[in-house]
Amino acid sequence: MWGSRVVTIGGDAPVRIQSMTNTDTQDPIGTAIQVKELAVAGSELVRITVNTPEAAAQVPYIREQLDRMGIDVPLIGDFHYNGHRLLTDHPACAEALSKYRINPGNVGKGDKRDKQFGQMIEAAMRWNKPVRIGVNWGSLDQELLAHLMDVNSRRAEPWDAKSVMYEALVTSAIESAQRAQAMGMDGDQIILSCKVSGVQDLISVYRELARRCDYALHLGLTEAGMGTKGTVASSVALGILLQEGIGDTIRVSLTPAPGESRTQEVVIASEIIQALGLRSFVPSVTACPGCGRTTSTTFQELAKQIDDYLRAQMPVWRAKYPGVEKMKVAVMGCIVNGPGESKHADIGISLPGTGEAPAAPVFIDGQKAMTLRGDNIANEFHEIVEDYIEKRFGHETAADHA
Ligand code: SF4
Repeated sequence: MWGSRVVTIGGDAPVRIQSMTNTDTQDPIGTAIQVKELAVAGSELVRITVNTPEAAAQVPYIREQLDRMGIDVPLIGDFHYNGHRLLTDHPACAEALSKYRINPGNVGKGDKRDKQFGQMIEAAMRWNKPVRIGVNWGSLDQELLAHLMDVNSRRAEPWDAKSVMYEALVTSAIESAQRAQAMGMDGDQIILSCKVSGVQDLISVYRELARRCDYALHLGLTEAGMGTKGTVASSVALGILLQEGIGDTIRVSLTPAPGESRTQEVVIASEIIQALGLRSFVPSVTACPGCGRTTSTTFQELAKQIDDYLRAQMPVWRAKYPGVEKMKVAVMGCIVNGPGESKHADIGISLPGTGEAPAAPVFIDGQKAMTLRGDNIANEFHEIVEDYIEKRFGHETAADHA
């Protein structure tokens, strides 16, 4: 259970998409708007920073704003250093959140560590909320690391420093979870993560984590970076782990370029899951890269236009046309692979390449249905796609695709 908002995680549940706001939580309207944007883009869980009493005080209002807008996405509170106090002093915040993220490396030092961690677990049990015990190598429990290095130095054949670091990450997560369970928390209410910023490090750590425990796992390459680099690194790391069956929720921690929408990380996360064939979120557009046979940009423009259109419609279509997310559309540049690829799609168009007759055959369900000619091919194809969607998915119900 996730408060009144239920999102199943772990076991046979589908891999879930998570994201995080970068607004100031003290600004409830700005934060609620961004949570809505992320949810509409497909984020099934959204984490918000809860770092001060002022931020904690705004959390119930953020929840309220979202409920008013009809956005029931679960909110996760991200706590560091003072989470024990915030969750105790702000019961309305503790109640409004659907999950608490606890970083064992940032709950306190020395004898305060166990006490403050315990206070957060008590709050979670009091409000019947799950927790994510999220270890991060940038804030790894230094006492545990020092202890493991000490143990390592006494080994006949000491491990290399990297292996000790991996061990510290995994140990910190699992021992914290076991401590929570010893306090009475149900293991099904615990999710673990061990985030690092190197692709190979992440793969090694999660393989070990999955080998040593049965808790649900949240995957993410922390500080993945910007643009292409962050996208590729996250895709490679998460793709390999998901392919091995490791991971129940994922987040792509992309640094947005100035002015870039935060929702990009959600789009990439859904593309990773869809590319692996684990879930479908938007109809896929197959488009050839183009070559010397396509000297005009017509097919590039049409492919982009169709892709943008399908993506923009999905928030409405999800309910109106169940199953449309599995549709395949092909937009191809010439006769070489155009007709063949178009036949494999649900609906496809093969545009004329340089020197070919100015005709674009359209294929529907593997059969040539018509040929478009003239200057209005893009708009006509657009209408054909809409018509196809209405006819094929307009009369189905969500139950047909349950
Ligand atoms: S389908 Fe035609 S235009 Fe597209 S890459 Fe292949 S040869 Fe080039």
